[in-house]
Amino acid sequence: MLVSTLPITPKYNSAFTTLISPFVACIASDFYNCPLVIANNLIGLRFSNNNPTEISSWYKKSLKSIGIKNFYYWSELDQGYLGYVYENMNLWYEQGVIRNELRKVFCCPCGIVEILDEDFLNYEKGKLYSLVNGSIVCNSCGGRVLPRCEEVLILNQKRELIFPVHNCFPGNFLSELKVIHNKLAKHNILVSRSKQKNSFFWASQKKFFIDTDFIWSLYLAYLSDKYSTNHILISASSRVLAPLIRSVCLSYFLRPNLKIDCIISPIVNITSSKNTKKININDFINLGTATELRFFLESGLHWKSKEVSLDTSVLYWIKHSIKPEINYLKKEVINKDSFILKDIHNGSSTRNLLAKLRKKRSMDEKEILLYQFLCQPML
Ligand SMILES: [Zn+2]
Repeated sequence: MLVSTLPITPKYNSAFTTLISPFVACIASDFYNCPLVIANNLIGLRFSNNNPTEISSWYKKSLKSIGIKNFYYWSELDQGYLGYVYENMNLWYEQGVIRNELRKVFCCPCGIVEILDEDFLNYEKGKLYSLVNGSIVCNSCGGRVLPRCEEVLILNQKRELIFPVHNCFPGNFLSELKVIHNKLAKHNILVSRSKQKNSFFWASQKKFFIDTDFIWSLYLAYLSDKYSTNHILISASSRVLAPLIRSVCLSYFLRPNLKIDCIISPIVNITSSKNTKKININDFINLGTATELRFFLESGLHWKSKEVSLDTSVLYWIKHSIKPEINYLKKEVINKDSFILKDIHNGSSTRNLLAKLRKKRSMDEKEILLYQFLCQPML
């Protein structure tokens, strides 16, 4: 078994929430005692001039600040990955799974909106475009979204109707994932893009630019080969359920023997009575030590919620509850199999643990496990 995040696009000013799914992945890999892969989407740094090497080292350093240190790192720039994608695309093209066709596509001037006509009516409105004075406009560039006929690459995976997720935690997301999967199974996937000129594919002597999100979407099949495992647990946030399902389906299409479990974390928003601006990753990692930040993140894990608000006052409480003189890091042999992950790792257990630490009361077995996971040696 392997634990991996869904590929995350690291951005210097992005909200600190992009640290939650790696944190949850770290919990799972510790709990199940299996390797951890932190995946980044670097080709997807569209419309920015960031250097992929610099931004990935900065992101890895940020992960270290919350005590995530022992992991394999993956991005589409992983040696051999792009070749793997092209190899499978060629195969799919030969099999007729990927075809070039003249289709009507709805596009905006900047290229963020580029949707096949068959999907346009079903697309979740408000996310990418809105209706303004009777016209459909792109939420990013403000330009009009208009239909045009053009030759595009489409992938037809309609025959693959099996729901590919083996297990999902928390279980309340399962029905939502099934609805998304049903929609996806009935439609074609637009593989080519007109404005994302990063990678291209030749089909019938015509050059097509490839959707950057399509490129990373085969990564689970690739990881399964690279790490010789058929069982992958993906950690993703509740905001990316559609890309999650698309990626799981495409990888499952390539490797039908894959067993895929998902763990969906809530979006954690930091609130502060003193500061109204959104906290980014750099702000966040300066708020405390690795141990304090881990306690803070853990206290926001309310699994049944899609979105959680966490006030910085919790951090003040954490700093005053964790006493350096308390040392529970003795190696106790506890059989984790008798507990399930959510029994140990959740917001209310963390708050109870903090209260006990503050009052110097002794911990039970689950709390010792939680404490051992959260406490990081000082750097
Ligand atoms: Zn646009």
